[in-house]
Amino acid sequence: MAKTIQAIRGMNDCAPTESPLWQWVEGKVRSVLANYGYSEARMPIVESTPLFARAIGEVTDVVSKEMYTFWDNDEQLTLRPEGTAGCVRAAIEHGWIYNNEQRLWYMGPMFRHERPQKGRYRQFHQAGVEVFGIPNPEIDAELIILTARLWKELGIEQHVSLQLNSIGSLEARQNYRSALVEFLQNHQDLMSDEEKDRLVKNPLRILDTKNQALQDVLNNAPKLLDYLDDESRTHFAQLCDLLDAMGIQYEVNPKLVRGLDYYNKTVFEWVTSALGAQGTVCGGGRYDGLVEQLGGHATQGVGFAMGLERLVLLVQEVNKDIPLQSAVDIYVVFAGEGTTLAAFQVAEKLRSELPHLRVMTHCSGGKFQKQFKRADKVGAKFAIVIGESEAQANQVVVKDLHSGAEQQTVANADLVAHLTQLL
Ligand code: ATP
Ligand code: MG
Repeated sequence: MAKTIQAIRGMNDCAPTESPLWQWVEGKVRSVLANYGYSEARMPIVESTPLFARAIGEVTDVVSKEMYTFWDNDEQLTLRPEGTAGCVRAAIEHGWIYNNEQRLWYMGPMFRHERPQKGRYRQFHQAGVEVFGIPNPEIDAELIILTARLWKELGIEQHVSLQLNSIGSLEARQNYRSALVEFLQNHQDLMSDEEKDRLVKNPLRILDTKNQALQDVLNNAPKLLDYLDDESRTHFAQLCDLLDAMGIQYEVNPKLVRGLDYYNKTVFEWVTSALGAQGTVCGGGRYDGLVEQLGGHATQGVGFAMGLERLVLLVQEVNKDIPLQSAVDIYVVFAGEGTTLAAFQVAEKLRSELPHLRVMTHCSGGKFQKQFKRADKVGAKFAIVIGESEAQANQVVVKDLHSGAEQQTVANADLVAHLTQLL
């Protein structure tokens, strides 16, 4: 036999047995977003590399080491590692946000060259939301309330909690950055080489270090919240008040800064302890400067992205009663002269008149006994049986495959009514 070729490490196939759960999760995401009046936008998977470098920031993990980048003739292209940059690019390019508010969502694969492990892959999927043109904290609250509703719909609301912070204006962050660097300079003995490097390039990222000794020291570090500008402070207080009044629980986490450069003011993460180290299922925040930074008219933005693999894993872990439909309702079996056409015609008629049913026609020939085995294997509830005499008489036999009830001969003309009663 020829040598087989395997999938790329960290890039998963979704088995036919897993896709019903994925479709169920994606369906919930779509219906909740529709519920809030959001519109879907679809962007390409490949964008020009400088878009991500400019939007996400050169010194972030994503841009500095996780991007899949290649040359296409003389143009450098990248498989999108996240959706915000492409969405902002499209919004500017097509004028979606020119003198206009937009509440958009997208769903699809993202690519990051990371070390694959449970909940962390090289091709993964996100559903994301981007809202443009609304400066008020009300929209930040709406995004959080929307995600809380989704967790309820998915049956995972008891297993996720909300972390919230404000990282203020760029200027506030620069002031804070200096104070943090000054504080951390005395603790370089605790730092790895990578953390020392971050101290120079992106010191705020040290706040979410996994290095416990450094975390302990950070408890006494200056707090970003103390450096906030007045506008960010008021914005954050209004957001917290609204969440309190709506009964949304959260924890203010002064160390939450998020990985990407473009955020300002509100940042948030929904986290779970049920998935081990990969605990963040959804992250987002405000990015008021990004549209201008990418060449558009100054337009506020706020959004989030959730990792669908992590949501699917969490749903599998904690929600045991998802009503996943059996694959097939009716399996049509036939054998003998003139029965092929009769079977196809009956099946097509059922698909037209009872479109909610899943009707499968046996296509691989053989004796009835073998055909019934297939029907069992696909989990069909009923078989419709057509032999030569049935085909000639414009009849079928309906057989209940689960209850063992007596089979019945039904005229083709009565079949739809008969099945409607049975199902
Ligand atoms: P993490 O801290 O887990 O690396 P992140 O901050 O890099 O996450 P974001 O860029 O905010 O992640 O992406 C939003 C969400 O997408 C994450 O909360 C997570 O659920 C999911 N996600 C990010 N990277 C991966 C990945 N490599 N595999 C699977 N899901 C991912
Ligand atoms: Mg990451």
